Amino acid sequence: MATVGSSKQDTLLGRVVVEQGFCTRDELEDCLALQTELSQQSNQRSLADLLVSNGYVTQTQLLRARTTADEQRVMQQIPGYQIISKLGAGAMATVFKARQLSLDRIVAIKVLPKRLSENKEFVDRFYMEGKAAARLNHPNIVGAFDVGEAGGYHYFVMEYVEGQTVFDHIAEGNPYSEKDAISIIIQICKALVHAHENGLIHRDVKPKNIMITPGGVAKLADMGLAREKDDQEAAQAEAGKAYGTPYYISPEQIRGELNIDFRADIYSLGATFYHMITGRVPFEGASPAVVMHKHLKEELVPPDHIISTISSGTSEIIEVAMAKEPKNRYASTQDMLSDLEAVARGEPPVLARKAYDLTSLANLEKSGREVREGGVIMVEASREQTIDFGSRTWTEKLSDPLVVTLSALLLMAVLIIIVLLLSR
Ligand code: ATP
Ligand code: MG
Repeated sequence: MATVGSSKQDTLLGRVVVEQGFCTRDELEDCLALQTELSQQSNQRSLADLLVSNGYVTQTQLLRARTTADEQRVMQQIPGYQIISKLGAGAMATVFKARQLSLDRIVAIKVLPKRLSENKEFVDRFYMEGKAAARLNHPNIVGAFDVGEAGGYHYFVMEYVEGQTVFDHIAEGNPYSEKDAISIIIQICKALVHAHENGLIHRDVKPKNIMITPGGVAKLADMGLAREKDDQEAAQAEAGKAYGTPYYISPEQIRGELNIDFRADIYSLGATFYHMITGRVPFEGASPAVVMHKHLKEELVPPDHIISTISSGTSEIIEVAMAKEPKNRYASTQDMLSDLEAVARGEPPVLARKAYDLTSLANLEKSGREVREGGVIMVEASREQTIDFGSRTWTEKLSDPLVVTLSALLLMAVLIIIVLLLSR
């Protein structure tokens, strides 16, 4: 009779429980020795059974380890690749480091869980977006190499990036200086300009999807990886995970709108920038639902109101990028890039100010209409204007064309009243 302890399945499971930190190598050795001893007495016990009955691993941990072991077993069957180790796991998949045998290079392979691999609509989109991503070629985008299927699991082969994610850096308690953050955001914005020009929307821009190489190059990961259709559900699935999707998701994705465009990525890039420089996510909450509600309804606290040393230019870029309504954000990703580069040179973000002025004008017209019904036009209109100025300086406020127009109107009204009074 074959010794259970020597089965390939047990060897893989044993490696995974230790790799995931569920038990120590000594505890594993203990169980393996016991297993051999028992099998010599014709008492066959599985390694899983012994790990749990000895209290080294919980049932939940065993379940998780089995899923990973299953994935790894499948991975060993992917022709042309050899798995080296596990790199990490997100809400949606597990990522492995592997060697591509034909080219003798290291790659990263993302394996989708069974539930997604069995969803035809998802798999179709997965291949479609994977193909589109493979056509992209940009130094700031993690390259997409291949997609395929093995043993019922679908996988995505991509460029391996050595280094940390922006999330890892923040989680270690290191805030980014404004200068460093701008440099990273500029690189990711360039990546997005390239993707958007080629018709691809990322839909999940966040600190965990930005990797920084030891040489300081920022790379956007998961480009072209199809997401689960219902973003709100995907966000809910991240419940309890710090810095998960709900912290950077755009209002239109929360609303489940069908035609998500480049402006969703602009919003998420703004939210990521906000977190990097303030050390805080834009909206906090006890549950994903609360956070999402705030994205929809709550006014953003401008970054320079949290950290006073943040320049008003950077703050304005973030405020425009994170406008609740897509039409009030940048008109193109290139526009956002131009402003970021201007601020990096120490110049003002001209396009953010223009977008901001247009929004203010729309607000002003709206409030003017409302007030006319109420009968106090100027008072209400100027209040709206003052609130909307946010972090701008007084000099900027006074030189604003809207303020000038308003003042002229007010002066004209006063003059007309005087003329009328005099002509009586
Ligand atoms: P989500 O499931 O929402 O995408 P996530 O981005 O945290 O969340 P994954 O994309 O599955 O999860 O990535 C998990 C981890 O694997 C990352 O945090 C990163 O450390 C590592 N990783 C991902 N892609 C690569 C890559 N191309 N090269 C090296 N490591 C990677
Ligand atoms: Mg990712």
